[in-house]
Amino acid sequence: MKIPHVVIVGGGFGGIKAALDLAKDSRYAVTLVSDKDYFQYFPSLYHTATGGRIAQSRLSFADIFSTPNIDIVIGKAVSLDRDTREVKLESGQTIHFDKLILSLGVVTNYFGIKGLDEFAYGTKSIEEVEKLKKHLHAQLTDGREPDNNYIIIGGGPTGIELAGAMSVYMKQIMTSHGIRHRRAHIDLVEAAPRLLPRLPKSMGRTIAHQLRNQGVKIYVGQTVEGETADSLMISGKPLTSHSVIWTAGMATNPFFKANDFIMSDHGKVVVNDYLQAEDNIYVIGDDAATAYSGMAQTAIHDGEFVARNLIRGASGKKPRKYIAKQPITIIPAGPKWAAVQWGSHIIYGRLGWWLREAADLKAFKSFEPLQKASRQFITEFGSQEDCPQCSDNFAKD
Ligand SMILES: Cc1cc2nc3c(=O)[nH]c(=O)nc-3n(C[C@H](O)[C@H](O)[C@H](O)COP(=O)(O)OP(=O)(O)OC[C@H]3O[C@@H](n4cnc5c(N)ncnc54)[C@H](O)[C@@H]3O)c2cc1C
Repeated sequence: MKIPHVVIVGGGFGGIKAALDLAKDSRYAVTLVSDKDYFQYFPSLYHTATGGRIAQSRLSFADIFSTPNIDIVIGKAVSLDRDTREVKLESGQTIHFDKLILSLGVVTNYFGIKGLDEFAYGTKSIEEVEKLKKHLHAQLTDGREPDNNYIIIGGGPTGIELAGAMSVYMKQIMTSHGIRHRRAHIDLVEAAPRLLPRLPKSMGRTIAHQLRNQGVKIYVGQTVEGETADSLMISGKPLTSHSVIWTAGMATNPFFKANDFIMSDHGKVVVNDYLQAEDNIYVIGDDAATAYSGMAQTAIHDGEFVARNLIRGASGKKPRKYIAKQPITIIPAGPKWAAVQWGSHIIYGRLGWWLREAADLKAFKSFEPLQKASRQFITEFGSQEDCPQCSDNFAKD
């Protein structure tokens, strides 16, 4: 009998988890299609941008997939033929599937605000954060007319963790280069009336206090209207800066609209109680319209859930219904300080920071055996600098 072929598209949190779990069952042939040959660990990107190592945000597929039971195809999926059950890649290759799991993640959304796509720095890929890191160093050590305003747009978790880490990193660079009298400061701009509009008010207030103590200026209720090569227009006022960082908007992967999936009012893919968008097609992670979509823990939970149901199906058992699991929210905001929402508990400070470290180790453990996961975890400590002066000085810290 022919072994059913499960094709998973997207080598991120959800896709990798589903692939690893399904590969343990020889009743399925598993293919993972990904447009990159590595797994991008988004939660550490802010740290890679501010002196951390690249290795911290990138896990190679070779380290993750030690099992021979998964075929890996590097390529970008562009379309879907439902009649022939084929996924077509940009290269022209087609892959036939019996079951398809789509875990494509989100893309940056500038909400049509002029100039941002051209001039703003991004924080969603290793290439983007490397570019930002180089820019910060070049600006801060430029003896002529460097920026004094470093503007982060978006008062959500990514903007907050970046603001907290950037304030420390910028001081380190200036100290390392003996720059004492620069008045470089960070502005964190949010359109909503407060930071973290989707989390408890007290959390937003405490984090704002923590960031202000580090010299970050917070502007809420401010609308970004456009960016030029030299300035950012906020609520009708121009602010001179060449250092604008956009963390504010994400949109569902365009693959779904292009391939006629049914979308929810919030622009995510409508799925049923089994995370199926259609017969034999599952959508998981950030793209699925589930209660806690948008978090890594949810994507892992979804990947695990779909794999388990497919394995149940192979044993002739009925599938279980999806139960959304509330993730733990952990937001670092400065050196060894993080805010944590764990159910109804809120924790601040160093304990929060250690919980974040533990969460990283747990996430690596979901994808790698303990020894490799521990090695990956250790990359979080230590720094990586192109500048020999900073490299020497940071190593002494
Ligand atoms: C900067 C940042 C920081 C974050 N920090 C946290 C955090 O601290 N905690 C937390 O819980 N969540 C965090 N998140 C959210 C978390 O990263 C996502 O919820 C998670 O990545 C979703 O997993 P996924 O599998 O749906 O998508 P992803 O992990 O994004 O994986 C999608 C994969 O599909 C690939 N792909 C896309 N299109 C195609 C295509 N057409 N063909 C082939 N491959 C394709 C992509 O390259 C990617 O590898 C953060 C997100 C960002 C952007």
